[in-house]
Amino acid sequence: MQLILVQTPRDITSSVRSACRLASDSEPVFVNVVPPSWALVNKCAINAKRYVEENEGEVVFGWAVSIWNKVLIDCIGHAVVKSNEQYIDVTPNKYDDKKILFVRDDGITFDYSDEMSRLPSKNIALSSAKDVKRLVNIEAELYSIKTKYPVTGGMIALLPEDANTISKLETEKQQITPKIIVNHTHHNDPCVCGSGRKFRKCCQGLFK
Ligand SMILES: [Zn+2]
Repeated sequence: MQLILVQTPRDITSSVRSACRLASDSEPVFVNVVPPSWALVNKCAINAKRYVEENEGEVVFGWAVSIWNKVLIDCIGHAVVKSNEQYIDVTPNKYDDKKILFVRDDGITFDYSDEMSRLPSKNIALSSAKDVKRLVNIEAELYSIKTKYPVTGGMIALLPEDANTISKLETEKQQITPKIIVNHTHHNDPCVCGSGRKFRKCCQGLFK
């Protein structure tokens, strides 16, 4: 069964706004994704810089935010273009999202001269539950392993000890995720499988 837990919110509600405030003080905005044909996945800083050089505007850094309601927010460092008072995202994403939720953060920097430079990434817990805190720590550990390797679009050969750690962390993630779902999904919430039906009328029974 596929789980759709972390999503781009559909509206900027007050709870979305207060969750985003944990990432940055700037107001969250929806930004349309309109990548030129030459733009590359995972290369947002480089895409934005080239776009600005060929067109106009400025490169702005911040967070692409997706939310697991009541559980955590997932913040991925991201570069977009600001042109004529409007933000545009010039980077294609693997989910084929047409818009992202973006929170500007001028504290984020990118070193264009360093091939290993990458934008930060963080999960922030929205719940004080022990399992949620552990999940956030697991994601941080997984991310810190990833930063040891260059950013590529393809497969990366991992060191055996890293592959081992990743597999342990992934296993633990799979064990605690159902517990988090049970404790944070109201029976009338949309189902975690993304069907659009209520949890109680869909997959709730699978999590008892
Ligand atoms: Zn379901």
